[in-house]
Amino acid sequence: MADLIQELAKTELFQNVSDDLLKQVLAHAFPVELSPGELLLSPKQDNHHIYLLLSGVLTVHFNSPDSPVFRELTQGYSVGEMSIIDDAVPSAYVKAKVHCRVFPVHRDFLLGLIQNTHPIAYNLLRILTQWIKVNTQKIISDQFQISELTSQANIDVLTGLYNRRWLDNALPRILSQMIKIEQPLCILIIDVDHFKKYNDRHGHQGGDLVLVYMGNVLNSNIRPYDFAARIGGEEFMVLLPNTNEADGIALAERIRLEIEKQIITHPDSSVLPSITVSIGLALSDVNSTAKSLFSEADKQMYLAKQSGRNCVKY
Ligand code: GH3
Ligand code: MG
Ligand code: MG
Repeated sequence: MADLIQELAKTELFQNVSDDLLKQVLAHAFPVELSPGELLLSPKQDNHHIYLLLSGVLTVHFNSPDSPVFRELTQGYSVGEMSIIDDAVPSAYVKAKVHCRVFPVHRDFLLGLIQNTHPIAYNLLRILTQWIKVNTQKIISDQFQISELTSQANIDVLTGLYNRRWLDNALPRILSQMIKIEQPLCILIIDVDHFKKYNDRHGHQGGDLVLVYMGNVLNSNIRPYDFAARIGGEEFMVLLPNTNEADGIALAERIRLEIEKQIITHPDSSVLPSITVSIGLALSDVNSTAKSLFSEADKQMYLAKQSGRNCVKY
């Protein structure tokens, strides 16, 4: 019993928890042994426990128990937190890589404890946050792979941003990743106002300078894991994974203001007037498709035009 208390005290979930409380935990369950390859959690089965890994190695897989390992867990980690908190089926398959000992803590018991004890509530939140971080890292690395696959054929020569070809391929993939981890994808469609007039007044070369400036402003205002593309002509899209509406609006406003105050210099050294942009914002939900998200942002961008331009609509 004393050994088991020591083992539990070393798990992430029960760090800094009193021995008295650990004794209560022990009174509710026994360690369970898993053979190599044995499945512990599956999206096909309801789960009512958090499993604390006392010894061995567990592997996490997304698409099937035999799909590539998403994450390996060692002693002290736990699995099942998400489904316990959400009261949903597990989001992944978890299986024993080697012989494992796990300690099950029942949902009802745990939720009862959380209401009375601060350390566990705190640890649990920390564990969840770490999961979210790991997922985000995964998205980042997937996005890195996407960009590795990206050849010059996917880059717009004038602005250095991604082009329409890239967008048509990447938007559905990024959206489905975000839906999978239940995070929103925020997109912005940004269209230069009265660009035809600008071209007429300052020549095509002047217009091209504006587009180059647009590329610089977009690239320097987004985070490393956001994307900016030139959809065509004087129209751009920014993809903001893991971004809620408020943060998306804040970024859109920052971009709008930055462009408004941008000084554009012509090669003959004359200063060209600054430009403005109209921005439409759309936020994904579980039912979104690339097409529906795109057309929602487009609709909002046209509303911005109708509302006098140089504004953000959502
Ligand atoms: P609105 O405010 O309603 O968006 O008006 P607008 O004039 O910006 O929109 P419109 O679609 O009428 O005109 C877009 C112009 O963009 C027309 C085209 O000549 C210009 N354009 C498209 N691609 C390029 C390019 O690569 N370089 C330059 N300089 N101009 C371009
Ligand atoms: Mg325009
Ligand atoms: Mg346009």
